[in-house]
Amino acid sequence: MSESLGPVRLRVAPSPTGDPHVGTAYMALFNLAFVRQQGGQFVVRIEDTDRARYRADSEQQLYATLSWLGLPWDEGPDKGGPFAPYRQSERLDTYRPYVEQLLADGHAYYCWCSPERLAQMREAQQAAKLPTGYDRLCYGKSREERAELPGFSDVPVVRMLIPDDAPLTFTDLIRGEVNAPRPDDQVILKADGFPTYHLAVVIDDHLMGITHVVRGEEWISSTPKHVLLYSWLGLPMPNFLHMPLLRNANRSKISKRKNPAARLTWFIEQGYLPEALRNFLALLGYSMPDGEEVFSFDDMVEHFDWQRVNTVGPFFDVDKLDWLNGHYIRSIDEADLAGRLLDRLRLDGVVTGEPTERERAVVAAATPLVQTRMVRLNEAPGMIGFLLVADDDLVVEDDALASLKEDAPAVLDASVTALEALPQWETAGIEAALRAVLVEQLGIKPKFAFGPLRVAVTGRRVSPPLFESMEILGRESSLARIRALRSRVG
Ligand code: GLU
Repeated sequence: MSESLGPVRLRVAPSPTGDPHVGTAYMALFNLAFVRQQGGQFVVRIEDTDRARYRADSEQQLYATLSWLGLPWDEGPDKGGPFAPYRQSERLDTYRPYVEQLLADGHAYYCWCSPERLAQMREAQQAAKLPTGYDRLCYGKSREERAELPGFSDVPVVRMLIPDDAPLTFTDLIRGEVNAPRPDDQVILKADGFPTYHLAVVIDDHLMGITHVVRGEEWISSTPKHVLLYSWLGLPMPNFLHMPLLRNANRSKISKRKNPAARLTWFIEQGYLPEALRNFLALLGYSMPDGEEVFSFDDMVEHFDWQRVNTVGPFFDVDKLDWLNGHYIRSIDEADLAGRLLDRLRLDGVVTGEPTERERAVVAAATPLVQTRMVRLNEAPGMIGFLLVADDDLVVEDDALASLKEDAPAVLDASVTALEALPQWETAGIEAALRAVLVEQLGIKPKFAFGPLRVAVTGRRVSPPLFESMEILGRESSLARIRALRSRVG
């Protein structure tokens, strides 16, 4: 455990450009682990300065997914806090004086180059195999002087004047001394009056008292620009920490366009438990001192140390997540799992509206039957749905029908007779009666004897244990289903 630093303030600063990225949850998890260990606050700030990529619903999705994942924040646009507003689009007036100061001190300059001119410049640089970057056509010119030249645009942007001797190294608490490439004359204020990320992030991290800037390694190349801005503006520097990027099996960066698992909502759809996803995200890039792979968020907090973060891009192994999820499904208590299964069945429309007493009882009774078999909650409709549908609505799957042999009518007939005569409807009695009639009297191998019954009762070839399922379903429904299949098989 690292030494206590006193109250710390960390933030995630996602851009609302669509479905929240799994990387945001990854950052949030590590931020919160450190905040919990040290004491302090965890802040959500919405970096919505890129208006072209803005998507209105993504903020709500972010709150919903972080809440689902059990990563609560102390301050944010929805919660308020001492440094509100927490949405950058609502802070435009905050940034302007800093831009003025940078212009006045000669650290920044206006640029009137049109997007067309910039594109031509880049093409020419590429054709001549020169490094690409702004050629400073506007630097040192007044508006009037610049207007005489081609590619003039009426509304200027403001650029940083990156000095030749700009420091290109900085200290990263995870990586030590880091070298970054020389930056271009970065735009800090756009023609639409919005700051770019680079200016806004520095001002906001400063004004919001952020002590540790934790973000993905793709931002390493931006950090020297931020270091310059801090020093030009005379602001104290926060600590920088760059987490490893999450990677696909082929080592490429996980992107929302190419990999569904980049979307945080995908994990909910797939039926992963939040505790399993938290554990999985923690394992990506972090190892516990004892090498244990299954650990809770509280364990992570207790042993948290940035020095244990692994900087080699972790591979996003969904099989590992499945393994962890199965583990958590088996280890939570039955009533808890029953509640989550019911939620899942509602989400999938198997249970509609407020669950009835019967639906609750059926799911509770079915839970122990599926707890050891289930890997993801999205299997619930397939595994349990047959217990909840009306007999007439049971869908018998094609492959289940195709699996029936010639002896199916005889098996079903004999079963109806045996089950009708049963004095009591419970698992052991059902099993004994069916064994007696199908295996002992009809001489069918146990392996094949119950297949037609499973198809009749569950509609599937594979299901939770048959006799227990029949007990839950009840005599009337079980018999109705067996009769219904019997009439379909001639
Ligand atoms: N808005 C940036 C993003 O979307 C935040 C980067 C940072 O944390 O500084 O990733």
